Amino acid sequence: MIITIHDEASSEERAQLMAHLCRITGSQHPITTTQMANGEVIALDSSIIDPEAHTLLSQQRAVAKITSPKTTYQLASRVFQNSDSQIVIGNGHECNPVTIGGNAMPVIMSGPCAVESKEQLLMTAHAVKEAGAQVLRGGAFKPRTSPYQFQGLGIEGLKLLAEAREATSLPVITEVMEPGMVETVAHYADVLQIGTRNAQNFPLLLAAGRNSKQRPVLLKRGLSSTIDEWLLAAEYIIAAGNPNVILCERGIRSYDQQTRNVLDLTSVPLLHQLTHLPVVVDPSHSTGRRELVPVMSRASVAAEANGLIIETHLDPDKALCDGRQSITPTILTRIVQETRMLARMMKEEVEVVA
Ligand code: PEP
Ligand code: MN
Repeated sequence: MIITIHDEASSEERAQLMAHLCRITGSQHPITTTQMANGEVIALDSSIIDPEAHTLLSQQRAVAKITSPKTTYQLASRVFQNSDSQIVIGNGHECNPVTIGGNAMPVIMSGPCAVESKEQLLMTAHAVKEAGAQVLRGGAFKPRTSPYQFQGLGIEGLKLLAEAREATSLPVITEVMEPGMVETVAHYADVLQIGTRNAQNFPLLLAAGRNSKQRPVLLKRGLSSTIDEWLLAAEYIIAAGNPNVILCERGIRSYDQQTRNVLDLTSVPLLHQLTHLPVVVDPSHSTGRRELVPVMSRASVAAEANGLIIETHLDPDKALCDGRQSITPTILTRIVQETRMLARMMKEEVEVVA
């Protein structure tokens, strides 16, 4: 159940509504509101509210309307918000912000899997910018399968990402692995990435939802998440107060050993039906093979992805992390050109048909 608050509700009327909600839900905590494109809202589990309480609730002066999407996720649902969410990346720091979602051109995010050194990051940042990428990626905190592998430079990596933003004006995206680090990562980064291994780390999702700067969150699909589990993970972030969620298909685990994961491209058009959130594809982690990255980038844009996140390294074979799937800046340049051309053609096609 979603309660939309009247735009013109007075602070008294709002306070009355909050007190009423605390009473009927038995909550000891302040009720969280989220500013969505179509108004300020509160989402609740309707099963805890009996019909009489429901009537009383709808009579509260601060209540504009009550809607009940029939899906388990609510605020993420297209039933609740029909118009595509458009999210601005990079408006909290000095850089070139970019809009993702809806009819905006696909946004290309690229950079190394891991921030390895100042020289590596700055050179790669300039190279991916030159190639046409609009957002710089780079992991400072790396969730590695083995404890003996390179774990990232940590805070030092975050500082280098901020330096790279200053040098190139590209907004930056980096992974956050623990709730206690959300505010620190949000201080340096423009987008918080939640990785596949943490896709159902609920305390982390809540902390990202509550981040004081409302930084957008790129939520990767869990290794074995269903679409509904993924959307419910997004719902945690939105219901905690942050509507700026970008979904990222990065492949799911299956039995085949040839590719690192299975790139489920069906999820892209399907998600566009189910949710208003932007959807991007990661052709690097989903394939694990650099030679497959260009074609799957084109396929992703053809499937109407709102963006791509691609690993680029100046010398992929020497990368400290994920070199096998990393492409060079030269290949990235081609991918940017091809996917832009494709996206433009698809847009023109839509305009002609309309
Ligand atoms: C990454 O982006 O480098 C990463 C670790 O991704 P994933 O969480 O999709 O494995
Ligand atoms: Mn990686």
